[in-house]
Amino acid sequence: MNLRRLADAEVAGKRVLLRTSLNVPLRADGTVADDFRLRRGLPTLEHLVRQGAKVIAVGYLGREGASLKPVADHLARLAPRIPLRFFGESPARAAEHTASLASGEVAVLENIRREAGEEANDPALAEVLASLADLFVDDAFAEAHRPYASNVGVAQLLPSYAGLLLEEEVARLSEALTPPPGAFAVVGGAKFETKQPVLRKLSTLYGRVAVGGALANDFLKARGLSVGASLVSDIPVPDDLAKSACLLLPTDVVVSSSRGGKRICRVDEIRSDETIVDNGPETSRAWSEEISKSSFVLWNGPLGVFEKDFTEGTDALASALSAASCRAAVGGGDTLAAIEKFSFEGDRVFRSTGGGAMLDFLAEGTLPALEPLRMPPL
Ligand code: ADP
Ligand code: MG
Repeated sequence: MNLRRLADAEVAGKRVLLRTSLNVPLRADGTVADDFRLRRGLPTLEHLVRQGAKVIAVGYLGREGASLKPVADHLARLAPRIPLRFFGESPARAAEHTASLASGEVAVLENIRREAGEEANDPALAEVLASLADLFVDDAFAEAHRPYASNVGVAQLLPSYAGLLLEEEVARLSEALTPPPGAFAVVGGAKFETKQPVLRKLSTLYGRVAVGGALANDFLKARGLSVGASLVSDIPVPDDLAKSACLLLPTDVVVSSSRGGKRICRVDEIRSDETIVDNGPETSRAWSEEISKSSFVLWNGPLGVFEKDFTEGTDALASALSAASCRAAVGGGDTLAAIEKFSFEGDRVFRSTGGGAMLDFLAEGTLPALEPLRMPPL
């Protein structure tokens, strides 16, 4: 995918509207619980500051109406050498403040989600945003699947470029869309309905696709097995998908019973009061073995209810990936949280900042916010 690159933009002395991902989980007291996305956005911010741009940063925070102040404060602590101020203004009121920005300074505007026109991609809001700057840089891959005013609308009005993180995300996930022979995909987590498009796509691209987590329950059920009281999706897995030749399903699982006990059993031995909570050891060994002989690994979705300490299946896969030497792409908010304790050498294993955006990119090969950043064909 050919996107206009930040590296090719002349930004010195220019007012740059930077759409960056400030959409991070917050604690009950409003402080930042996980700053992975903020840290991944720093190279673009640092590049703009070093080049002498006047940066107006815009972010979208999922929690309704929440202020970006604690996020901006956290960002300022992460990058103490960057002169960064939180303006806390809406775009319409920002012009008078941003006019006084010096080269190399950063102003962070208030949560753009507070603007009624944001999610509607209202042209009036896009116009106001565009009036603040000379050019636009989109670095918010995590929200690139949403066609909003602050990514799609404004990009159509200003000279627009992909930021360094966005560019890297697209490159690494494009690699996952053109896997070499012998590649292995693992999809876990929950909500089959949201993962069906990506599963379909991967089953055409990857020689082997392992399905775990709550998704496996849906596939086991589609194959006529009883999954007891396990979490299943509202929609059934279509027959052709359930029978695809590339599919790998757990052969044993950890189940917990309504009486509080847990045991390991084969997938055809689940009792009516039992709930599948994790991969069993035989499945973990088999999938780890697959990883060790894979040319490339793509992974989304935890393989068990990791929040309740059913982490063994997920840990086994992450250990196998850590011990392997193939390149890999891993993503999903819960997946990254579940494998946080693992480290991978160098840039071999790419951790995507996208959850929904990663799944949509893999399923569609593009995203709404990427389209206006494309180079015109020669
Ligand atoms: P991601 O955010 O990485 O894309 P998802 O949101 O799709 O992942 O899924 C994560 C959720 O799936 C977690 O809350 C986890 O507890 C749940 N999960 C995984 N395995 C099971 C299972 N066997 N039964 C119920 N929930 C599961
Ligand atoms: Mg999730």
